[in-house]
Amino acid sequence: MKEGKKLSKKIICDFCGAVDSEQNPIVSGDHANICKACITAAYDIVNADDSSYVESTESATTKHKDVDIPTPAKLKDILDQYVVGQHRAKKVLAVAVYNHYKRIFKKLPDTNDDTEINKSNILLIGPTGSGKTLMAQTIAKYLDVPLAIADATSLTEAGYVGDDVENVITRLLQAANGDVKRAEQGIIFIDEIDKIARMSENRSITRDVSGEGVQQAMLKIIEGSVVNVPPKGGRKHPGQDAIQVDTTNILFICGGAFDGLEDIIKKRQSGNVLGFNQSKKTKKEMENVINSVESDDLVKYGIIPELLGRLHMITTLNEITKDDMVHILSEPKNALTKQYMKLFKLDNVELEFEKDALELIAQKAIERKTGARGLRSIMEDIMLDIMFDLPNLNNKKVIITKDVVNKTSEPKVA
Ligand code: ADP
Repeated sequence: MKEGKKLSKKIICDFCGAVDSEQNPIVSGDHANICKACITAAYDIVNADDSSYVESTESATTKHKDVDIPTPAKLKDILDQYVVGQHRAKKVLAVAVYNHYKRIFKKLPDTNDDTEINKSNILLIGPTGSGKTLMAQTIAKYLDVPLAIADATSLTEAGYVGDDVENVITRLLQAANGDVKRAEQGIIFIDEIDKIARMSENRSITRDVSGEGVQQAMLKIIEGSVVNVPPKGGRKHPGQDAIQVDTTNILFICGGAFDGLEDIIKKRQSGNVLGFNQSKKTKKEMENVINSVESDDLVKYGIIPELLGRLHMITTLNEITKDDMVHILSEPKNALTKQYMKLFKLDNVELEFEKDALELIAQKAIERKTGARGLRSIMEDIMLDIMFDLPNLNNKKVIITKDVVNKTSEPKVA
């Protein structure tokens, strides 16, 4: 009782035990006392919580808008604007992408329906420079989803020197500006997947035996798992903060040239009899062979069945022909000649390419055997000198002829 009386005279803060003073006065309620310092601290806590709450709900509603799912026809139409030829591959990709996002975002009103739709990751088989990466880029840009591009040959199993497979997720997160939800709806393009095929008795190519391990590591992220990624990329360290990214809804597009796959397909088609008498096939016939690829052929090539089981949609791209090259140079949105024309126009100069000049550029690109990828460097080489003089050509017209491409003459300036 006495003690109580003593305490009631000396008012102390119920939160921190501070004694009432001039510098730190105490406010008394019916059943509790609080000092000025604790009031200030509580105010800061409440305010900080408030603002971060507002920020996070804002980002949830403004940043994470669901992907608007265009129809396959619309997607094919977009691809047509950027990618020349490859019609079958564009159609397959359009349907796969449509199914993928439909599976994530559309729900049936019947809540009892528990059918799960498998994710349709995609495998694009086609020679280098035939538009595989371009297709993935075009789709990601149009859908406004983040895209990470990786080269399978640079990937290693976790713990080996190189780029851990999981680092691809870090790159995707970076492409999504750190927005985990956006990254979880993104696209990952893994090129040169054929180069991590396991050794197979059917082929005499020697390769890194760790290919199979990388495939296993890829399988884990493709089939959907929660990956702990270091926030700034690089290797993981124990104790380092990690961000968790669920890969379940990430669309994987794999690409590869699969050199030598024709032989495996032909062998299957001819009933496993080695075709000693097979006549040399034309390019068209070879394309038809590749188009009839089946999963088993890819397993024989050295892709593990589990990984193939996750790449439901398989399609092939054709080698770029000389005609295609001419189209690529002049027709798609952002075609190289259009880009140069714009660069010239910005200096008030008109630019024209004669048709046989374009054909010769196409021919030179074919000789490089890097598909349409070679076009840019050939073009840059041709255009360098005239670009150097561009600011002095105000109001003029420049014509690129076949001889300019051959470097036997200067561009015509009119
Ligand atoms: P890969 O098949 O090796 O992934 P890319 O898609 O990276 O080839 O192509 C390299 C470049 O060549 C592209 O950036 C693009 O400019 C051009 N290109 C390749 N194929 C096509 C195509 N079918 N249509 C238009 N441009 C193409």
